[in-house]
Amino acid sequence: MKDIPELFGSMVFNDQVMQERLPADTYQALMRTVENGRRLDPSVAAVVASAMKDWAIEKGATHFTHWFQPMTGITAEKHDSFLSPVAGGKVMMEFSGKELIMGESDASSFPSGGLRATFEARGYTAWDATSYAFIKDGTLCIPTAFCSYGGEALDKKTPLLRSMEVLGKQALRVLRLFGNEDVTMVRTTVGPEQEYFLIDRAMYDRRKDLINSGRTLFGAKPSKGQELDDHYYGAIKDRVAAFMRDLDEELWKLGVLCKTEHNEGAPSQHEMAPFFSTANIAADHNQLTMELMKKVAARHNLVCLLHEKPFAGVSGSGKHNNWSLQTDTGTNLLEPGDTPHENAQFLLFVCAVIQAVDEYQDMLRVSIASAGNDHRLGAAEAPPAVVSIFLGDELTAILESIENGTAYDAKEKVQMKVGVHTLPRIPKDTTDRNRTSPFAFTGNKFEFRMLGSSQAVSEPNVVLNTAVAAALDAFATVLEQAEDFHAALDDLIRDVIRTHKRIIFNGNGYDEAWIREAQARGLCNYPTTADCLPCYVAPKNIALFEKYGVYSEAEMRSRYEIYLQNYAKVLHIEAHTMVSMAQKDILPAALRYGRELADTILAKRAALPNVACAATEEALLNKINVLTDSLDRCLDALRKALAAAECPTMTAQERADCYRDVVIPAMTALREAADGLEVLVAKDLWPLPSYGDMLFSVR
Ligand code: ADP
Ligand code: MG
Repeated sequence: MKDIPELFGSMVFNDQVMQERLPADTYQALMRTVENGRRLDPSVAAVVASAMKDWAIEKGATHFTHWFQPMTGITAEKHDSFLSPVAGGKVMMEFSGKELIMGESDASSFPSGGLRATFEARGYTAWDATSYAFIKDGTLCIPTAFCSYGGEALDKKTPLLRSMEVLGKQALRVLRLFGNEDVTMVRTTVGPEQEYFLIDRAMYDRRKDLINSGRTLFGAKPSKGQELDDHYYGAIKDRVAAFMRDLDEELWKLGVLCKTEHNEGAPSQHEMAPFFSTANIAADHNQLTMELMKKVAARHNLVCLLHEKPFAGVSGSGKHNNWSLQTDTGTNLLEPGDTPHENAQFLLFVCAVIQAVDEYQDMLRVSIASAGNDHRLGAAEAPPAVVSIFLGDELTAILESIENGTAYDAKEKVQMKVGVHTLPRIPKDTTDRNRTSPFAFTGNKFEFRMLGSSQAVSEPNVVLNTAVAAALDAFATVLEQAEDFHAALDDLIRDVIRTHKRIIFNGNGYDEAWIREAQARGLCNYPTTADCLPCYVAPKNIALFEKYGVYSEAEMRSRYEIYLQNYAKVLHIEAHTMVSMAQKDILPAALRYGRELADTILAKRAALPNVACAATEEALLNKINVLTDSLDRCLDALRKALAAAECPTMTAQERADCYRDVVIPAMTALREAADGLEVLVAKDLWPLPSYGDMLFSVR
């Protein structure tokens, strides 16, 4: 057994290493920069870079890279070696302060949604000193933000950092109102729980759909799925356990606090939950986690599938974004606390979240939208596409009592008065019962459960942070002017509950009746990505993000464009893969089987001329014939649909709509015919590993 504390963070240029290796004044200057978010002084950067390089070389690194998160949703890196030539044909290992702080890269191949004119292809990466540098595969990785020449964000990190700052500032204003003077900073904390599938490499290699699109585009339901619920929290198989141990070690080395690993609902599905950290670091670490899951799986002859819906008919994979606010004095602002005073502050923060989620439910929906996630949301397994908040019975009863001025506790007839009464304990376990809610209060944090397993966590947190900041801003503005603070607070909370209670729903989110009720309540319901993407350019949303400097209007319009294109591209790849598989693998297999049956029928008739001897084969051949014809027709229809969606004169939104309305139905029809054939065609002729083969491939 390795020494875990020794191993943990051993590849990270963390606080301890900095304290050891940097001169005291450099260390302090760097910390001040981190805390104030100011630019790093070049002379300080030079000293830090030199210490970083020495440390990295001692750890075996030969290269460095600015590690950034472009709009592709994954991370990008371009490696430079430390090598620098010197006289006599020799080299020196060098890394300058300038190279640490800023990188210039040709950004023309990253999606920019029109932000970067082609004549100005340069993009800049700038060190985010709030996230530690680390060594991965012999390369010193420096977490950076990625911007255009004009300073517009081309990445997912920049807006996240902006939103954290905005929220911190507004939260501090509110804390001051409660007489809290010792807190100097409030940060968003995030703990993302990551779901994934592991399947055997040999199965994966035989499925073009998995290789091209990360999900199965064909596949009849297996005879055993997840009906018995025997996988959830079940005993972990040796091979999976070995993978998890290996993954833990790799992540620990990088300072990622992975804590729990267990089996999930579907066969071959698992989950990793880290200990929470600040939103920015959690976002970086989640990217590293996804990358390492794939890499470590390969070492074990496994493939890690991060797609939201790799297999139809069994649960898909999501990511639960646990979110809270923490002061630099260590207080969790969503922890109810013990005194009436703490309770009042807690209720105000909860109200800020309620108002934020209600007012910007459309932006929350759009922040987690992707073609992959469309298969989960609303598909009776994951949260519906409608955003609502689960507060639990206790907290709901408390808010109702405040709203109506009625007794909270039936026995004692206590009427909850904010700032006067102590809240009853809100037991953590009762708050966590509802697993169907998209946004649930779980005792001392909110859990946003709509995220897809493959997505970066940055964007949903950008929306959450900014929307909550706006609510806190509005609250602080009212309360700062109040003559009687407690009376104003009471009024404010009551007002927020009255205005925004439509977003609170403690029932079953999977229920059809809820979708109807949600509509009656006026909540948004955008079933698909193409439906919700226009929210990016809704005037009220542009106004919010512009007001707080989190996104400019141009940045939002570019993101809208990028996501529309991404949606169309994903479906384009999937549909073309389907056409190719159906034409080259599935149709030939069906025809071959038909031929085998026809041959048998002829042979039997010749052998037994006076007996009706081939009824089984004839019936089967008939069915195969019908389905083969249908497959062929569906193939033609999908080709036509694709041609329509590829029409060059469409706008990006028109194209996305066309994929949704024309291409997806054609894909569904083709799959139906192919899956029908899979059930009938002999196993030895079927060219693809079945669902059963894949889902139970890891022993
Ligand atoms: P479980 O769901 O297994 O009971 P928890 O509810 O404690 O476990 O935590 C689930 C996830 O929420 C973990 O990733 C954890 O780190 C994270 N989490 C716990 N507290 C906070 C917090 N204050 N802010 C953000 N995330 C948190
Ligand atoms: Mg959870």
